[in-house]
Amino acid sequence: MIEAASVLFVLCGLVFLALAVKPSYRICQSIEYRSWYLLFILILTFILGYSFFLLVLLSNPVTFLELGLSAILAGGGAFVIIVIRLSLSSMTQIQKNADARYVEARSDPLTKLYNRLYFSEYLNQAISKGAPFAIIMADLDRFKEINDTLGHAVGDKLLIQIGDRIQNSLLKSDVIARLGGDEFALIINNVDESSCLSEAQKLTDVMEDAFAIDDHLLVIDMSIGIAMFPENGFDSEALLKNADIAMYVAKQNNQNYVLYDPSIDTLSPKKISVISKINDALLEQEFELYYQPILSPADNRLKGFEALIRWPQANGTIISPAEFIPLIEQSRFIGKITRWVILQAIQKAYGWNRDYLPVCMSVNLSSSDVLDKELVPYIRDCLERYPISPSLLCFEITESAIMLNMERAKYVIYNLTSMGVTIALDDFGTGYSSLSLLRELPAQIIKIDRSFVMQITANLEDFSIVKSMLELCHRLGKEVVAEGVETQAIFEELQNIGCDYIQGYYCSKPINYDDTCVWLDSYIKNNQTVITMGYEPNIS
Ligand code: C2E
Ligand code: CA
Ligand code: CA
Repeated sequence: MIEAASVLFVLCGLVFLALAVKPSYRICQSIEYRSWYLLFILILTFILGYSFFLLVLLSNPVTFLELGLSAILAGGGAFVIIVIRLSLSSMTQIQKNADARYVEARSDPLTKLYNRLYFSEYLNQAISKGAPFAIIMADLDRFKEINDTLGHAVGDKLLIQIGDRIQNSLLKSDVIARLGGDEFALIINNVDESSCLSEAQKLTDVMEDAFAIDDHLLVIDMSIGIAMFPENGFDSEALLKNADIAMYVAKQNNQNYVLYDPSIDTLSPKKISVISKINDALLEQEFELYYQPILSPADNRLKGFEALIRWPQANGTIISPAEFIPLIEQSRFIGKITRWVILQAIQKAYGWNRDYLPVCMSVNLSSSDVLDKELVPYIRDCLERYPISPSLLCFEITESAIMLNMERAKYVIYNLTSMGVTIALDDFGTGYSSLSLLRELPAQIIKIDRSFVMQITANLEDFSIVKSMLELCHRLGKEVVAEGVETQAIFEELQNIGCDYIQGYYCSKPINYDDTCVWLDSYIKNNQTVITMGYEPNIS
């Protein structure tokens, strides 16, 4: 009886140990700690020890001491299997959590596609492997309009459906990621130029059928830019930049897709270089704001400043906004630049109002900005950060910007005025609908374009136009700023005909922040009167 019980105990212990062999080996393989190998070897040694003891039990009469020992051995075996199994399942759970976190950090929460992080990791890997591939940048056309008119919920569902459709059209070896907003990027492996173009055509075809979202049937196009590795770049930066340029060319030319070619000649080299540098310039805070005073000719009093962006270059030159703003006006960069300008301008206005005197700050908006419904909440946030009265903030909008989409522009402009900020109609007289805009827009200020102002002392027609515009605006209860006042004669003429405000080189060229502080100091020293003659800033 004692023999049978002892043998049974040792056998149980042996079975437990044997069951622990495989999981402990799996632990050894999945983890780098050498101590686990020691445990594994110990288990094997125990198995040998248990077997030897079993033989002893079988070949000799069993004592009570040996029976007790056998029971302890069975318990030891059970202990080992429990510890090993628990360790393995904890490790598996930890690994699963780590895997989930890894996947989560690399996937886009909305579309469940890969995100920018994974894409750049994959891209770098693909480059280091050296096999040819194509990188495709795809940007939706007028997605913002859908978002703004039908709401973000519809926009989100559309992005999900688009992601699904593209993914279903791809081979398993290809990768698609959503880089952000309405921008998707793909890597198509092992392709040459012609098969890559047919992939791009496939993507275009995929977008052809309407997307059914809630009660809407939405048709949306995509602009696709393609860059090939290694032909169009040896590193990820060059490839992404070139695919981006090709995509931009596609958008500009209303083409479905464009393969990058160094000789893309639909864009001037300058335009290409500007577009490709603008994102970095924003990240590196390369832009600078200059300020040009606006003053009343009646008593030389300062009304405020117009903020004008500048892009200083490493070689000491400055790219003027007239050069780069039109190039990016239809791109996604303009919204970023406008936001940067708004924040800077409000911050500086806050400082000047606190340290000097109440001054208005005027900021220029582009055509895309007046369609951007997110801009109003952004301005509200900026005003919360730097609390100045909204009435000290003025947004200058050109006629042509408004005419692109009158209804949407009106919506944004009414939202702006309901915040209490001022609207100025910029470059007035140069568009086609000046008079109807005067009637329909809640613009309190009209800025007469400098092309009418600069010749008023030499050209009677120009003088008559400016004088009539002034009278018309005054009758409508609006204030007038004459732009481009360069000489004393023009200044005095505008003074005589009762122009409310003037702006021009005669008072000051646009100057940087530090010079503006110096300028304000001298303005205050001169009893808050602008010294128009003799002040010659050395920076244009
Ligand atoms: P704008 O809004 O009509 O700005 C006035 C432009 O006239 C400025 O050119 C200014 O330097 C120039 N100016 C001022 N006084 C005189 C003068 O007496 N004579 C002459 N000949 N010119 C004068 P700037 O700074 O080169 O800006 C050009 C345009 O770029 C601006 O025209 C505006 O449309 C755009 N811009 C400037 N900054 C921004 C910005 O932050 N955002 C946007 N969206 N556009 C901007
Ligand atoms: Ca302006
Ligand atoms: Ca202007």
